Amino acid sequence: MRIDIITLFPEIFKGVFEESIIKNACKKGYVDIKLYNLRDYTNDKHRKVDDRPFGGGAGMVLKPQPIFDAVNDLKSDGCKVILLSPQGKKMTQNSVSELSKYKHIILICGRYEGVDERIRKYLIDFEISVGDYVLTGGEIPAMVLVDSIVRLIPGVLGNEESVEHETFSNGYIEYPQYTRPVDFRDMKVPKILTSGNHKKIDDWRKKQSFKKTQKNRPEFLNEKEGVD
Ligand code: SAM
Repeated sequence: MRIDIITLFPEIFKGVFEESIIKNACKKGYVDIKLYNLRDYTNDKHRKVDDRPFGGGAGMVLKPQPIFDAVNDLKSDGCKVILLSPQGKKMTQNSVSELSKYKHIILICGRYEGVDERIRKYLIDFEISVGDYVLTGGEIPAMVLVDSIVRLIPGVLGNEESVEHETFSNGYIEYPQYTRPVDFRDMKVPKILTSGNHKKIDDWRKKQSFKKTQKNRPEFLNEKEGVD
């Protein structure tokens, strides 16, 4: 899979893409991630990428020319162009799984007040949000998207089973996990998990998973969860 990212701040991605699973996925050739500095595509002699909004108002808007030119330069047949935006469709495990099947995607990271509306109207295929809150730029959302996509590319995690049983993958929330010690400061691991009876463990996990999924997850931190 090829992932191209258009950003004003390519350096931001370094730590995240140069460690652990994403780094290995790149090294092993499962994914080819490239960063493109938006300023390299501007026609402006001062390398300006933004301008004041027509009609007035606070902040600056990213101009259409550099973004259109960058996308046209990078585009391949069948590739999908994605704008990271708080106004977009909220990312879910299903949409991420869909995206992981494309051969080539281009991510556009907004900044300031966002992008000229003509980009949204005439250039992109999808507009994706990482949640109902506003961040300063599209770089962190792009990292979130890339991380969630890369781990779904077959072969990347090695142990495919770990994706299969994960939260959201089968419509459920994952069952509770425990590790050694069995007794930690008087807090004990459920007996069933150390029983060695795999059928019973499986049933217990299914039940727990179902119970967790039944609880509606409240929006505010102090709200109580629905069912116990
Ligand atoms: N003025 C815009 C609005 O009210 O919708 C917000 C612009 S935001 C400060 C700057 C950029 O950050 C956006 O263009 C987008 O690329 C990115 N961004 C901010 N929040 C995001 C979110 N929840 N999901 C995805 N991208 C986001």
